[in-house]
Amino acid sequence: MRPHYVTPPHITISITNTCNLQCQWCYGDCSGARTELNTKEWLQFINYLIANNFIQIYFEGGEPFFRADFLYILKNCTPHMMTFVRTNGTLVGDKLAAELKSIGVGRMLVDIMGARAETHDELTGVAGSFEKSCDAVARLASAGIKTDVLVILNRKNAAEIQELIELAHGLGALRLGILRLYPLGRAKRSWGQLALSIEEQQAAVTNLRPPNGFKVMQSWHPNDRNCCWQAAAVNAFGDSVGCMYLREYVNFGNIRTKPLLDTWHDDPLYQALRAGKVEKSCPSCHENDGTHGGCRSTAFAFHGRWDAPDPFCSHLNEGIDLRVLPQRLLQKSG
Ligand code: SF4
Ligand code: SF4
Repeated sequence: MRPHYVTPPHITISITNTCNLQCQWCYGDCSGARTELNTKEWLQFINYLIANNFIQIYFEGGEPFFRADFLYILKNCTPHMMTFVRTNGTLVGDKLAAELKSIGVGRMLVDIMGARAETHDELTGVAGSFEKSCDAVARLASAGIKTDVLVILNRKNAAEIQELIELAHGLGALRLGILRLYPLGRAKRSWGQLALSIEEQQAAVTNLRPPNGFKVMQSWHPNDRNCCWQAAAVNAFGDSVGCMYLREYVNFGNIRTKPLLDTWHDDPLYQALRAGKVEKSCPSCHENDGTHGGCRSTAFAFHGRWDAPDPFCSHLNEGIDLRVLPQRLLQKSG
């Protein structure tokens, strides 16, 4: 059974909404349109998390290292919390890898969007980014940092997943996380070129052959999870959004004016998402933390209801063609 948390033990922070790449799927649709929290505001927030017994912090972006003060902010976290950093890797040189090791970063996660340079570079929009991301994995691993590779499964890389497992393993990564494509940010505008049907997705993650000791993580049946019960996230502008996959659908309050835990306790939608009540569930999913119905972000995206079934679960899909986005989402993307 899942525990009942009075406060969340871990949090995801999008430390910046800026980046040096131009990925076709970028959920952040990176731009400098709003004012991000400054160094002092982030440090105050980190102190708040420490004082409230948060034990784990997961940084993502944008690209965290594109923000000049990120390493300084990270250094203020590592003595107190388990830290994860998701990065595109292109700014991770030898010096930074050594520094990350010396400050005790917990785990690094590097996005590599295909097993071949032409696939990755087309998806990131920047020539040469594949080589830099691969180099980063090798550097981080040889610096002695636990390092994983992440890939967002889509039409352009679906045939390369086995090859990517071998590449990641060869670079020294410990795991490959295969992630779903979410209809957020730029991914909405690229959906027609990138999205796969549920059958194509299942086929791409079935019968993979990881080398001994190498782990492949995926969230399709029977691993579909509804992890909203424990989720907390803050975007680069200070909005409490529960999970970065909910970033376009909710705003539980801004931490500049309302403490994070007040947003956790007070907001009725946040409470409802954590309660985990859903219309239908898939009883055979065995890694779902005792909750059911799958991811709330994709359930809401495709059905417009928070308690709807998750169409990315093959048992709950109900004939929805995941290659076609609801018109409602396209209108919001402008
Ligand atoms: S690396 Fe990440 S933040 Fe940067 S453009 Fe790509 S998806 Fe967006
Ligand atoms: S179920 Fe989906 S929306 Fe909820 S926390 Fe997990 S990944 Fe995020």
